[in-house]
Amino acid sequence: MDVIQQLNAHGFTALLVGGCIRDALCGMQPKDFDVATDAPLDEVKRIFRRSRIVGRRFPIAHVRYGRNLIEVSTFRQSVSENIEHDAQGMILRDKAYGTLQEDAFRRDFSINALYFDPNNNEIIDYVGGLEDLAAGEVKLIGDPTVRLAEDPVRILRAVRFANKLGFSLDPRIIELFEDSARRLTAIPPARLFDEFLKMFLTGYGENIWQHIRHTGIARVLFPTCNPNSHLISAAMRNTDERIKNGLSVTPGFLVAVLLWEDFRARSAEQRLNDEDPAFATLRNQQQTIAIPRRFGSFAKETWMTQDRLIKRNPRTISRLIQHKRFRAGFDFLCLRAKSETDLAESAQWWTTFQEQDEATQQSMIAALPKPQRKRRRRSKRRSPE
Ligand code: ATP
Ligand code: MG
Repeated sequence: MDVIQQLNAHGFTALLVGGCIRDALCGMQPKDFDVATDAPLDEVKRIFRRSRIVGRRFPIAHVRYGRNLIEVSTFRQSVSENIEHDAQGMILRDKAYGTLQEDAFRRDFSINALYFDPNNNEIIDYVGGLEDLAAGEVKLIGDPTVRLAEDPVRILRAVRFANKLGFSLDPRIIELFEDSARRLTAIPPARLFDEFLKMFLTGYGENIWQHIRHTGIARVLFPTCNPNSHLISAAMRNTDERIKNGLSVTPGFLVAVLLWEDFRARSAEQRLNDEDPAFATLRNQQQTIAIPRRFGSFAKETWMTQDRLIKRNPRTISRLIQHKRFRAGFDFLCLRAKSETDLAESAQWWTTFQEQDEATQQSMIAALPKPQRKRRRRSKRRSPE
């Protein structure tokens, strides 16, 4: 409201738009607030000291307000020679300013193109968004073929909103799943990482995974994932539950889960002098989704705990508990144990172990079978004679 009032005070129109209106009308708590205005971005930047302009394709202003980040965008023109497309119809740049009504038609889905004017408590709807919201349908504004070609990430957003709100997808969007999936290969991997976070780390990951796992979308995003993996489904469910309970989640854990089968296959194939299988697994995934280094390391470290947790060498257990990925590794093992029955015993052992006092822990360790020492044979060198 303050951001809007300040823009008004400088003579500009400003309205709330997008996800916050959509979510509020669905009875959900908006997670952030987007503002649309007729103020050009350099004016926005001048008015708010703590702001900066971000985005190359669709520049917007990030305005910091206390702890919050408000995304302010200037009304865009709907049809314009100023919009640059590539040969496939994908928008490369869109910087032409327009009117409020034009801005509405540039937005992706009708339910995302609702504006709220706080000065008269009015909802403004040019595209039938209220009707689609009431009907529970995710519909693109305009021709779905054109709009998905302009920006193939919209197919991911469509799936995400449908699952988050419990809405159905317009059948014309479903028909374009495979075509849009192929177009996703043209999207910069860094943008797909952002979208990956929104899809799988905001509490609706399991349903989204079920929705896409047998489609080209999953094959493009995660080329090595097994669509029938029990581990992936279980981890998605677990992540959603943690989010609902206010527990912390890290993308690194899901990266470890999603790439586990590929890592195992590469480890099994590894021959002398081959590159590190963890590195090769991560590098292969980076071609579509740019995984920041810290999350890649997290995944690798989690994978490295698995054998140690299963083998339970009594002499190194105390070090293993101190390992910075012990917790993640243990959680990972428990998820695996749900479908790999031979892991149930070690997962149970670790669960019990952590519930005990120190003396009991020591006796549990003492009761473990000693690992078979590799016998160092000090055979006498035979003399040549
Ligand atoms: P959430 O913030 O919950 O993910 P949102 O709808 O607010 O949902 P944002 O990415 O914050 O999503 O975008 C704000 C608004 O900007 C959207 O509601 C939509 O109107 C518009 N928008 C965002 N991305 C696109 C896109 N790829 N194409 C067209 N319009 C978009
Ligand atoms: Mg938003």
